[in-house]
Amino acid sequence: MTFRDLNLKKPLWNALDDLGYYTPTTIQAAGFNVMISGKDTIGIAQTGTGKTLAYLLPCLNMWEFSKEPHPQILVIVPTRELVTQVVSEVEKLTTYMNVAVCGVYGGTNMNTQAKRVLQGSDILVGTPGRILDLAKSGSLQLKQVKKVVIDEVDETLSLGFRPQLLNIFDFLPTKRQHMVFSATLSEEVSSFLDDYLIAPVRVEAARVGLPLEKIDQTCYRVPNFLSKVALLHHLIQHNDASSKILVFVSSRTLADLLFTQIESNLGDLLGVIHSNKAQNSRFETVRNFQIGTIRVLIATDLIARGIDVTDVSHVINFDIPESPENYIHRIGRTGRADKTGTAITFVTKKDESALLAIQVLMQQELVFTKLTEDVEFTDELLEFEKPKIIIPGKTSKLAQRENRGDSFHEKKAKNKKVNVRYDHKKAMQEKYGKPKKKRQK
Ligand code: AMP
Repeated sequence: MTFRDLNLKKPLWNALDDLGYYTPTTIQAAGFNVMISGKDTIGIAQTGTGKTLAYLLPCLNMWEFSKEPHPQILVIVPTRELVTQVVSEVEKLTTYMNVAVCGVYGGTNMNTQAKRVLQGSDILVGTPGRILDLAKSGSLQLKQVKKVVIDEVDETLSLGFRPQLLNIFDFLPTKRQHMVFSATLSEEVSSFLDDYLIAPVRVEAARVGLPLEKIDQTCYRVPNFLSKVALLHHLIQHNDASSKILVFVSSRTLADLLFTQIESNLGDLLGVIHSNKAQNSRFETVRNFQIGTIRVLIATDLIARGIDVTDVSHVINFDIPESPENYIHRIGRTGRADKTGTAITFVTKKDESALLAIQVLMQQELVFTKLTEDVEFTDELLEFEKPKIIIPGKTSKLAQRENRGDSFHEKKAKNKKVNVRYDHKKAMQEKYGKPKKKRQK
């Protein structure tokens, strides 16, 4: 099957030709006719399966030119990185069409984005909070929206965007088509979709295991953070200079800590990206990783979701992912577009149950590699790794009431609710003094 077998408009075929895309992926082929028929659709697809084109192609095929400046297609995604990625895919697909696309996300000046929105767009891509703020402020008109895509709805909901999504729905016309994409159908996702979608049709990307066949997966047993650092050093040094290595850590603090630990050896070849970094620096880092000036990129899960970097040769799970689904997301960053890749996971003692969950989801046992060469492991634990010792009776209690400072009593007095009967006579007396009695004549 080729894209010519899908009933696409010519400008889209031409754009696909330019991009060198001839064969639709499973989710693109399976989803196209369902979405074109106008039915609500649930796409079960992880990143790397071609899910973005799977919804963009039918949306763009159904799009009709309108003089209205308001968007007909609304794409809601969880992160800013994904906004820019989807916008760029739209731009690539519409080189032969007169379609205006606009991306909006939080953390940047709202007025600038409001001005851009007011210039008009056919497709609006954005994160939930910013879409809602723009709609509330009146800059963004959503009454013309016919197609609503929620990409990575699982991530969107787990980030707590449910109220924003529901609020956005209030601004939309009741007659609309939903196309919702999710890596997994958790209970939270299913119950959300049950409430809002009408008789949705489910389409699935190629089975989870399949695209991962090109990825060589292995694990190492490592005792602690500093030993992980030593092993990471070793692995980086023993890979050829052309390798592009994406290193996942569990938190922003650990991302920065790891960066400082290996920075001296790698210099400019090392980058770090997480949500506390300024937006410009995030884009710049990803760009440098894409063009290869950065060879090793340290990232957290959320940010890495939106990174579409080609030729990632190695994914290293410095920290095991919290959810098994994230393992698939992470390693899916390598082995893309007919390339092979390597995924390496560091496993400490406390990671055993997380590892088991991954193996169950993958329906595959992960093999451990024994270290033959010398890597200096250490027993030293950093403060955050040390077990917390709780001595009975030594737990710090709230200070006794008497010992609390003045401010406590002041606040307490202020907060005290007492029903006081208002005595008008007394109040007047306090204000004007006792009334003079009329003297008897
Ligand atoms: P996604 O799953 O949407 O993040 O897409 C992963 C990558 O695959 C992106 O870089 C797409 O541009 C690319 N891609 C999507 N569809 C195709 C296709 N049919 N043939 C080749 N590459 C594709």
